[in-house]
Amino acid sequence: MGEIMQNKANILGCNVDIVTLQDTIQKINDYIEEGTPKHIITLNGEIAYQASKERKLCEIINNVDLVTPDGIGIVWAAKQLGYPIKERVTGIDLVYALCAQAEKKDWKLYLLGAAPGVAEQASHKMKELYPEIQICGTQDGYFNESDISRVIKNVKHHRPDIIFIALGAPKQEYFINKYKDKMEVPICIGVGGSFDVISGNKKRAPELMIKLNIEWLYRLLSEPSRLTRQLDLPKFALAVLKDKYISKGNH
Ligand code: UDP
Repeated sequence: MGEIMQNKANILGCNVDIVTLQDTIQKINDYIEEGTPKHIITLNGEIAYQASKERKLCEIINNVDLVTPDGIGIVWAAKQLGYPIKERVTGIDLVYALCAQAEKKDWKLYLLGAAPGVAEQASHKMKELYPEIQICGTQDGYFNESDISRVIKNVKHHRPDIIFIALGAPKQEYFINKYKDKMEVPICIGVGGSFDVISGNKKRAPELMIKLNIEWLYRLLSEPSRLTRQLDLPKFALAVLKDKYISKGNH
């Protein structure tokens, strides 16, 4: 049984908040009222495994304001270690839930990341789904190092309440960690490939596969280049089991 500290699970050294989608939305509400820049990570098993090998990434994860359990790997690991994590809180589900909330609360959104034109297409789609939504800016994710200060200035100038950053994990986490205070945006969330899905350029797995917790299989079949990355999942599972049996010996 893992130790429960302030409603956090510890998975391979990464602290994950034991939250549902509803809790996450509530916390984001509170953070926006507070106003100082916050970094939110939706953590999956591959990135937790990478963090267990990459000290700087682990430090970033453990210092952000909220880490949600994204991915069946994390939910499985939490169960193995005895933490009461109930559901996945994925980047894309969070984006949709926050769009609905933003429409009600008049929050302004900024979309940064994905290939040229994709963030714009995603913003059109969001406006179709949530007609009152305010998207104050978009920017693709393929700018040069020399453009960063212009990109940051533009974000700051538009004063969004939430910025969705789709540069892929963990690139987006390093980016947010470095620039969140300069952007001065209350909520910075890394959302991976979400703009590709929302814009319609990539399909999300069918509902049944999501329910059966085999969304990872759909992604592997539709994007075989993810194989190397997904091979980290069995390694992640083995490392979790090793942790489980070692800590069991200590209880
Ligand atoms: N991307 C980007 N800039 C980069 C590298 C990646 O904007 O320098 C985008 C890419 O176009 C894609 C997203 O980041 O939209 C990564 O998607 P992926 O599905 O790999 O993300 P994951 O959720 O697996 O991290």
